[in-house]
Amino acid sequence: MQQVANKNWSPTSWKEKPVKQLPDYPDQEKLEQSYQVLKDLPPLVTSWEIEALKNKLADVAAGKGFLLQGGDCAESFDATKAPKIVNMVKVLLQTSFILIHEMGIPVLRVGRIAGQYAKPRSNDFETVDGEKIHNYRGDLINSFESDSGARMPDPDRLIEGYHKAGLTLNFLRALADEGFADLHHPEQWELDFMRNNEYYKDYEDMVSSITKAVKFVEAIAPDTFTTLQKVDFYTSHEALNLYYDSAQTRPVPRKNGHFNLSAHMVWLGNRTRDLDGAHVEYFRGINNPVGIKIGPPYEIDETLKLIEALNPNHEAGKIVLITRFGKDIIEDELPKLIKAVRQEGFPVVWSSDPMHGNTFSTDGGIKTRNFDAILSEMQSAFAIHRSEGSYLGGVHLELTGDNVTECVGGANGLDVKGLNKNYETFCDPRLNYEQSLEMAFLVAREWKK
Ligand code: PEP
Ligand code: MN
Repeated sequence: MQQVANKNWSPTSWKEKPVKQLPDYPDQEKLEQSYQVLKDLPPLVTSWEIEALKNKLADVAAGKGFLLQGGDCAESFDATKAPKIVNMVKVLLQTSFILIHEMGIPVLRVGRIAGQYAKPRSNDFETVDGEKIHNYRGDLINSFESDSGARMPDPDRLIEGYHKAGLTLNFLRALADEGFADLHHPEQWELDFMRNNEYYKDYEDMVSSITKAVKFVEAIAPDTFTTLQKVDFYTSHEALNLYYDSAQTRPVPRKNGHFNLSAHMVWLGNRTRDLDGAHVEYFRGINNPVGIKIGPPYEIDETLKLIEALNPNHEAGKIVLITRFGKDIIEDELPKLIKAVRQEGFPVVWSSDPMHGNTFSTDGGIKTRNFDAILSEMQSAFAIHRSEGSYLGGVHLELTGDNVTECVGGANGLDVKGLNKNYETFCDPRLNYEQSLEMAFLVAREWKK
C-alpha cells in the first residue's frame, strides 16, 4: 500500500500501465499536437470549487447532506444548445428542490455534464453493411454516424470537447447565478408535464409552500434571501479518455498536488477499475473527489484495495462509492460490501446508481430500462443501508429534462410500443422529465422511512 499519494506519479504516468477502453488513434502525431494544445488551454473549473465540493461531500459521508448526481449517459456535441442545457439545469434543480423540501437537508447537485463525452464499449468494432468499422465511443472520440471515416478516432475532438464543455459550463454558471435558479420564482418552473401525474398536487403544494415561506421571511427581514439567488452546481464525468483528462490535470502549488480542472468530480467506470491499470494509476494522483462504480463482476478485496489506493489518507469526502448491482443481486452483494468497508473504517459517501444494472433490450432491439426496476434497486439500496446501520447519501441517475421516451414505466405508463416516439439517447436510456421528478419524490420518500 503506498504511503505517499503522489509517489512516482505524474499526469502521464498512466501511459506506463495497461490501458482499457482508450481508442487506438491512427494519427499519433496529431494526437500529440492536440494534447499539447489542450494542456495550455485555461482550466474549466478551479481547485477552490473542487475543494468546496469535497468538503460538502465530507458532510454527506457523515449523514448531513445528500448527493444528487445526474444527467445524460453520453452528452453529444450537437446538443450544446440553449434549450437542451436549460432543460437539464431545470430538471436537476427541480429534482434537488423536491429532495431539499422533503428531506430538509442540504442537497449537492452534481451534473453528468460539460464533459460526459466518452463511453466504454464491449467491442472495439462493429460490422455495418458487411464493413467492419470502429464502434461509437462518444463524441470526444468519434462520430455517431455509422461510416468508417466518421468512426475513425479523431484527436481534434479532444479540443472540440473542451470547447463544448466550456460553452456548456459558461451557460450553466450563468443560469445558476441568475434568477433562473431564484427561489423567489418557483412558479416559473413549468409543471405541465406533471398534470397527469399522481404527485402533481403534492408538487404544486410544495412550490406554493416554499413561495409563502420566502415571502414571509422577506417581509420581516428583507435581505435574508439575497444569498438564495445563487445555487451551487457542480460538474462531473467519467474520466475515461485519459488524454482529455490528463491534459487538463494541473499542479496546484497552494495544495502541493494536482487537480483535474476539467470537472469538479470525475468517476472511475465499472470497466476500467483494474488495480494495476492505467485509469487507477491516473486517479490515484488527483485531488478531486472521485466516484468509483461498483457492480458485477467485482471482488470485495479488490474494492477495498482500490479505495485505499485512491484515498490512502482516508480523507472524508474524497470517495463516492457508486453501487450499480441490478435489482436482482443487490440484496446479495451490497450488505457484504457495506460490512467490509465499515470494517476498514473508510469514510465513503455511499451512492446508488439504480440505472446501469437494470438495462435490457426489447424484442425489437431497443435498449431500455423499466422505471419499476430502477425504483426497486433504489428502494433496496435504502433498505439495506438502513438495516446495516449505514447511510445511503446519494443517487446517481441518467436523466434528461426533455420529453424523451427511453425508459418504460412511470406514472404516465410509457410502454414498449411508445419507445420509438422520441428515443434520442446516443447511449443508455434516460429518465425523462416527468419520470425524473417522480423518481425524486420516491427517493425522498425512501430516505424519510
Ligand atoms: C455510465 O455511467 O454511463 C456507465 C458506463 O456506467 P458503468 O461504468 O457503471 O457501467
Ligand atoms: Mn450509461
